[in-house]
Amino acid sequence: MLPLTEQQIRTSFVNCSRREAQQLTLPSDLADLRWDRLDYLGWIDRKAPLRSYVVVPVDDRLVGVALRAPEVASRRRAVCAWCEDVYATDDVSMYVARRAGAAGRNGDTLGTLVCTDFACSQNVRRKPTLVEAGQDPAGVVQRRIETLREHSARFVREVLRGS
Ligand SMILES: [Zn+2]
Repeated sequence: MLPLTEQQIRTSFVNCSRREAQQLTLPSDLADLRWDRLDYLGWIDRKAPLRSYVVVPVDDRLVGVALRAPEVASRRRAVCAWCEDVYATDDVSMYVARRAGAAGRNGDTLGTLVCTDFACSQNVRRKPTLVEAGQDPAGVVQRRIETLREHSARFVREVLRGS
Protein backbone atom coordinates (compact mmCIF):
# COMPACT_ATOMS: atom_id res chain seq x y z
CA MET A 1 0.00 0.00 0.00
CA LEU A 2 1.00 3.64 -0.29
CA PRO A 3 2.42 5.46 2.75
CA LEU A 4 -0.29 7.01 4.90
CA THR A 5 -0.22 10.13 6.99
CA GLU A 6 -1.61 10.35 10.48
CA GLN A 7 -4.50 12.43 9.16
CA GLN A 8 -5.34 9.96 6.40
CA ILE A 9 -5.47 7.19 8.94
CA ARG A 10 -7.62 9.10 11.42
CA THR A 11 -10.14 10.17 8.80
CA SER A 12 -10.47 6.66 7.35
CA PHE A 13 -12.41 5.16 10.25
CA VAL A 14 -15.95 4.08 9.47
CA ASN A 15 -17.15 2.41 12.66
CA CYS A 16 -16.19 4.70 15.49
CA SER A 17 -16.93 8.31 16.33
CA ARG A 18 -14.83 11.13 14.93
CA ARG A 19 -13.72 11.84 18.46
CA GLU A 20 -12.55 8.26 19.01
CA ALA A 21 -10.74 8.32 15.68
CA GLN A 22 -8.95 11.54 16.67
CA GLN A 23 -7.90 10.10 20.02
CA LEU A 24 -6.84 6.58 19.17
CA THR A 25 -3.16 5.76 19.46
CA LEU A 26 -1.40 5.33 16.15
CA PRO A 27 1.51 2.94 15.60
CA SER A 28 4.70 4.51 16.93
CA ASP A 29 6.72 3.44 13.89
CA LEU A 30 4.60 4.96 11.11
CA ALA A 31 7.58 6.69 9.51
CA ASP A 32 9.66 3.52 9.43
CA LEU A 33 7.10 1.14 7.99
CA ARG A 34 7.86 -0.67 4.75
CA TRP A 35 4.59 0.38 3.16
CA ASP A 36 5.44 -1.32 -0.13
CA ARG A 37 5.39 -4.62 1.75
CA LEU A 38 2.04 -4.06 3.49
CA ASP A 39 -1.36 -4.96 2.10
CA TYR A 40 -3.13 -3.39 5.04
CA LEU A 41 -2.08 -1.58 8.18
CA GLY A 42 -3.07 -3.26 11.44
CA TRP A 43 -2.00 -2.52 15.00
CA ILE A 44 -2.86 -2.96 18.64
CA ASP A 45 -3.43 0.24 20.62
CA ARG A 46 -0.43 0.30 22.92
CA LYS A 47 -2.27 2.49 25.42
CA ALA A 48 -5.46 0.41 25.34
CA PRO A 49 -4.45 -3.15 24.43
CA LEU A 50 -8.02 -4.37 24.06
CA ARG A 51 -8.41 -2.06 21.09
CA SER A 52 -6.98 -2.77 17.68
CA TYR A 53 -7.36 -1.19 14.28
CA VAL A 54 -6.96 -2.03 10.64
CA VAL A 55 -6.78 0.34 7.70
CA VAL A 56 -7.49 -1.42 4.42
CA PRO A 57 -7.30 0.00 0.89
CA VAL A 58 -10.47 -1.12 -0.85
CA ASP A 59 -12.14 0.03 -4.08
CA ASP A 60 -9.84 3.08 -4.36
CA ARG A 61 -10.78 4.09 -0.88
CA LEU A 62 -9.10 3.79 2.48
CA VAL A 63 -11.26 2.18 5.15
CA GLY A 64 -10.30 2.14 8.82
CA VAL A 65 -12.05 -0.31 11.12
CA ALA A 66 -11.82 -0.28 14.90
CA LEU A 67 -11.71 -3.77 16.34
CA ARG A 68 -12.31 -5.09 19.78
CA ALA A 69 -9.24 -7.08 20.61
CA PRO A 70 -9.76 -10.41 22.22
CA GLU A 71 -9.03 -11.33 25.78
CA VAL A 72 -5.78 -13.25 25.87
CA ALA A 73 -7.73 -16.39 26.69
CA SER A 74 -9.58 -16.28 23.39
CA ARG A 75 -6.43 -16.65 21.36
CA ARG A 76 -6.42 -19.98 19.68
CA ARG A 77 -4.70 -22.20 17.25
CA ALA A 78 -6.36 -21.46 13.97
CA VAL A 79 -5.74 -20.44 10.42
CA CYS A 80 -6.03 -16.69 9.85
CA ALA A 81 -9.01 -15.96 7.60
CA TRP A 82 -7.10 -13.16 5.88
CA CYS A 83 -3.66 -14.56 5.01
CA GLU A 84 -4.53 -18.28 5.45
CA ASP A 85 -0.95 -18.93 6.50
CA VAL A 86 -0.64 -22.55 7.56
CA TYR A 87 2.49 -21.95 9.64
CA ALA A 88 1.51 -18.89 11.67
CA THR A 89 -1.37 -20.60 13.43
CA ASP A 90 -0.23 -20.18 17.04
CA ASP A 91 -1.50 -16.71 17.56
CA VAL A 92 -4.69 -16.01 15.69
CA SER A 93 -7.49 -14.08 17.38
CA MET A 94 -11.18 -13.57 16.93
CA TYR A 95 -11.44 -9.82 16.40
CA VAL A 96 -14.83 -8.18 16.51
CA ALA A 97 -15.87 -5.01 14.67
CA ARG A 98 -18.96 -2.92 15.09
CA ARG A 99 -20.61 -2.45 11.72
CA ALA A 100 -20.54 1.02 10.19
CA GLY A 101 -23.55 3.32 10.37
CA ALA A 102 -26.93 2.59 11.91
CA ALA A 103 -26.35 -1.17 12.11
CA GLY A 104 -23.33 -0.64 14.32
CA ARG A 105 -25.10 1.90 16.48
CA ASN A 106 -27.75 -0.77 17.03
CA GLY A 107 -25.06 -3.13 18.25
CA ASP A 108 -24.54 -5.20 15.13
CA THR A 109 -21.02 -6.66 15.05
CA LEU A 110 -18.91 -8.82 12.82
CA GLY A 111 -16.13 -11.20 13.86
CA THR A 112 -13.09 -12.37 11.96
CA LEU A 113 -10.13 -14.62 12.75
CA VAL A 114 -6.95 -12.67 12.08
CA CYS A 115 -3.29 -12.97 13.06
CA THR A 116 -3.17 -11.36 16.53
CA ASP A 117 -0.21 -9.16 15.59
CA PHE A 118 -1.56 -8.41 12.08
CA ALA A 119 1.50 -9.97 10.47
CA CYS A 120 -0.49 -11.21 7.46
CA SER A 121 1.51 -9.13 4.97
CA GLN A 122 4.77 -10.70 6.18
CA ASN A 123 3.23 -14.15 6.17
CA VAL A 124 2.11 -14.01 2.56
CA ARG A 125 5.58 -12.85 1.49
CA ARG A 126 7.28 -15.74 3.23
CA LYS A 127 9.55 -17.67 0.89
CA PRO A 128 7.57 -20.66 -0.39
CA THR A 129 8.76 -24.11 0.57
CA LEU A 130 9.99 -26.28 -2.29
CA VAL A 131 6.73 -28.19 -2.29
CA GLU A 132 4.61 -25.02 -2.31
CA ALA A 133 6.73 -23.31 -4.94
CA GLY A 134 6.84 -25.97 -7.62
CA GLN A 135 8.13 -24.26 -10.75
CA ASP A 136 6.79 -20.84 -9.86
CA PRO A 137 7.87 -19.38 -6.48
CA ALA A 138 7.10 -15.78 -7.47
CA GLY A 139 3.64 -16.80 -8.61
CA VAL A 140 2.94 -18.45 -5.25
CA VAL A 141 3.75 -15.26 -3.37
CA GLN A 142 1.73 -13.16 -5.80
CA ARG A 143 -1.31 -15.40 -5.38
CA ARG A 144 -1.00 -15.26 -1.60
CA ILE A 145 -0.87 -11.45 -1.74
CA GLU A 146 -3.99 -11.35 -3.92
CA THR A 147 -5.80 -13.70 -1.55
CA LEU A 148 -4.94 -11.51 1.44
CA ARG A 149 -6.12 -8.36 -0.36
CA GLU A 150 -9.34 -10.08 -1.37
CA HIS A 151 -10.09 -11.39 2.12
CA SER A 152 -9.31 -8.15 3.92
CA ALA A 153 -11.40 -6.18 1.41
CA ARG A 154 -14.30 -8.61 1.80
CA PHE A 155 -14.31 -8.08 5.57
CA VAL A 156 -14.25 -4.31 5.17
CA ARG A 157 -17.11 -4.38 2.64
CA GLU A 158 -19.07 -6.49 5.08
CA VAL A 159 -18.45 -3.91 7.85
CA LEU A 160 -19.66 -1.17 5.48
CA ARG A 161 -22.67 -3.03 4.12
CA GLY A 162 -25.89 -1.12 4.56
CA SER A 163 -24.19 1.99 5.97
ZN1 LIG B 1 -3.00 -13.44 8.92
